[in-house]
Amino acid sequence: MPKAHLIIIGNGMACGRLLDEILKRNPDQYRITVFGAEGYANYNRIMLSPVLAGEMQADEIITHSEQWYQQHNITLHSGDPVVGIATEDKTLTCQSGQTFSYDELVFATGSNPVMPPVAQACELDGILSFRNLDDIDRIMARVSTIKHATVVGGGLLGLEAAWGLRQQGLDVTVIHRAGWLLNRQLDPAAGKLLQQSLEARGIQFKLKAQISYFNGEQRHASDTTNALRTIVLDDGTTLNTGLAVIAIGVSPNHELAQNSGLACDRGILVDDQMQSSHPNIYALGECTQFGKHTFGLVAPLWDQASVLANRLCNLPGQRFRVQPCATKLKVSGIDLFSAGEFLDDPESESVICQDPTNGVYRKLIFRHQRLTGAVLFGAVNDGNWYFELIQSQTKVQQLVPDLIFGRRYCDGDAIAQLTPAGAVNTDTAAPLSLATGATS
Ligand SMILES: Cc1cc2nc3c(=O)[nH]c(=O)nc-3n(C[C@H](O)[C@H](O)[C@H](O)COP(=O)(O)OP(=O)(O)OC[C@H]3O[C@@H](n4cnc5c(N)ncnc54)[C@H](O)[C@@H]3O)c2cc1C
Repeated sequence: MPKAHLIIIGNGMACGRLLDEILKRNPDQYRITVFGAEGYANYNRIMLSPVLAGEMQADEIITHSEQWYQQHNITLHSGDPVVGIATEDKTLTCQSGQTFSYDELVFATGSNPVMPPVAQACELDGILSFRNLDDIDRIMARVSTIKHATVVGGGLLGLEAAWGLRQQGLDVTVIHRAGWLLNRQLDPAAGKLLQQSLEARGIQFKLKAQISYFNGEQRHASDTTNALRTIVLDDGTTLNTGLAVIAIGVSPNHELAQNSGLACDRGILVDDQMQSSHPNIYALGECTQFGKHTFGLVAPLWDQASVLANRLCNLPGQRFRVQPCATKLKVSGIDLFSAGEFLDDPESESVICQDPTNGVYRKLIFRHQRLTGAVLFGAVNDGNWYFELIQSQTKVQQLVPDLIFGRRYCDGDAIAQLTPAGAVNTDTAAPLSLATGATS
């Protein structure tokens, strides 16, 4: 009997993980075909940041080579995006014009970078996104011809782009709409410490700032488009810059699904087994919306891949649920960790521990005697331990506020290191200042 045909649209990180999970469970169940819009085998998108910074080469971040697909009898069509789906007769058409029929179909189309309307309107050379290997090529093609680059967005992606461009020898300014950096992961105090560390590395910041407009000019008489020359901010500041990397967020890539009649809101709507509104059509990764949640980090995608692999391999029901995520910044020399909640509210309690001399800051947030958030800057050794406590929702009543001093202290090993001030720094053995209290 012929095997059922499974087609996956999108050859990104979620697809790679799903393939691994399916092969682990039952490598013989399906004939598998993958369509990728990018002209590459599967690579670790997370590592684009070290590639931009010159710390890694593009070929070092390949996770599933073309050879890997061949070895596992998976047909890969790279550089050939799917452009239409006829759900009633279970067929799809790709850009090259070929049509394929499927038994089971998976959307793994990821997300698109959000571009501000002011950037879309001006059509200048040198306004770029930072999402894929082609973006890196476009950015690198400009780097050698300019002195200054601007990054729009002070989130994880924007700061990693800024660091990469700085490592390429450019002067870099980051424009950020909020009042502090990583305002979706850090509280203002940690955001300020991060800013100081990045400023010490030569990156400049314009906070609470927005772009009013971009200006360009023709570089050569033969140019058909103008090149970016200046950015004017809403406070009137003008930046002379030859490159603007836009990193203000992503939005789920669900256009094809929507055009095919699948229920979509901000992303492709899926249930807790990653099924879309249509039978035999599933979705995972950043293209999805689960309840009110959309996704921007890989950890939930790994859970989705495991759930969907079980479903496709007819294994007992595992169900997807949204869990707290931990984030780190990939800028060498900066230790930063954030998981769960990071801002105070009237229902929570927080404990803060600071060691300004050593640039160490720790904040833990508790709710109903359980740890619900951790922000660590400068000393992150205990990050994973805090994250486990957040995930397990262990009652930590007796440990508050000791928990702030880290695992070794709470296990009793660090008592000997108590400082005269009565506090201990398990990472630096320097005196710390401690603040606790209900927040309001
Ligand atoms: C620079 C950078 C750094 C990051 N760092 C981190 C990090 O440190 N930690 C973390 O957790 N996350 C990080 N992320 C986010 C992480 O990379 C994403 O969460 C992850 O890649 C999403 O996987 P995905 O498969 O859903 O989407 P993608 O990996 O984007 O893959 C989707 C693929 O589908 C293709 N596609 C779209 N439409 C079609 C079509 N019609 N036909 C065929 N193919 C199509 C796209 O071209 C793309 O190749 C980072 C992202 C970037 C860009």
